Amino acid sequence: MAPKKYVFSPGPATLPREVLENASRALLDFQGTGISILETSHRSKVFEELLEKTKRDLKFLLEIPDSHETLFLQGGASLQFHMAPLNLFLHSRPVDALHTGYWTGKAIKEIEKLGPCHVAGSGESADFKTLPEKFDWSDQPSFVYLASNNTIHGTQWKTFPEHPSAPLVADMTSDILSRPIKVSKFGLIFASAQKNLGCAGLTLAIIDRELAERCAKTAPTMLQYRTHIEKNSLYNTAPTFAIYIASLMLDWLKQNGGVAGIESLNLKKAALLYDYIDQSALYRCPVNISDRSTMNAVFRIGKNDTLLEQEFLLAAEREGLIGLKGHPSAGGIRASLYNALPLEAVETLVAFMERFSQAHLA
Ligand SMILES: *Cc1c(COP(=O)(O)O)cnc(C)c1O
Repeated sequence: MAPKKYVFSPGPATLPREVLENASRALLDFQGTGISILETSHRSKVFEELLEKTKRDLKFLLEIPDSHETLFLQGGASLQFHMAPLNLFLHSRPVDALHTGYWTGKAIKEIEKLGPCHVAGSGESADFKTLPEKFDWSDQPSFVYLASNNTIHGTQWKTFPEHPSAPLVADMTSDILSRPIKVSKFGLIFASAQKNLGCAGLTLAIIDRELAERCAKTAPTMLQYRTHIEKNSLYNTAPTFAIYIASLMLDWLKQNGGVAGIESLNLKKAALLYDYIDQSALYRCPVNISDRSTMNAVFRIGKNDTLLEQEFLLAAEREGLIGLKGHPSAGGIRASLYNALPLEAVETLVAFMERFSQAHLA
């Protein structure tokens, strides 16, 4: 019999079975309307109700204050790398960026196209295995930029740095809704949906309404947060199916203890894997212990034994453990442990790792 499959992919990522089952029914008949969710107008009453419900659920789960607006955008986190500075740069005042790896590197490149970017903290000299501890803020930055979880390097901010005056802008693509956050501390949070919030095609943005007014009205209409605030995310055709999947994910999350409940499960999953790795003679986690991500656990075999790692990945796949290959830029192995990944998946992975270890530590 083929083994049960567990998806450890970094994104698009695993989804709960019941979300997929509900979605498959809605592909044929959306909420008893007799037509598919894919055929449903973004201007219809049923869809507008779905949009409002999704906003309400996000507001409830993340405790979003009234000062902030929730937006459903497209273009992925990668478009936000440009859209955020386009909207939030203040004349000649730099962006202070905290550089923690691949994705902040891409964001910094986009910021630099629009104005000065000052790297106020960097993990580069430590190969991004630790997060910066000291910050060299500029006088009056336009905003401070960071990524809350570094998907590729396996690090995660446990507490967020605070600047005395500038708003904080955070890419939370790979850990949104995985733990409680204080939204009021952020001017802007953005996240692609395909890791913790559903499927590809949707980008969530949560923005302080006042901050959105910084943008010049001459900026491209689609790239102004203000446009989407004024039109309630319906300026143009919204990514209806991806919003629907997000709504199912939020239902699932509410039934599973909300953000606090999922955080304790996430901590349990991460501890199980990291504790196993730390006592093992074969596997090694290169990441500084206090900076380790609960969402993406990266590890190596032996002294970066790439041949044995390839063998590991092939054997894992045969046993139904999918998507464990590290990012090409980092190599090694990465287990993504997003909200929807059940504890039993990590238990199965650890049992496999132990068998593989016994076979190769002769
Ligand atoms: C995956 C990821 C991105 C890229 O998201 P896209 O939707 O492909 O643009 C950006 N930032 C982080 C932290 C990510 O994990």
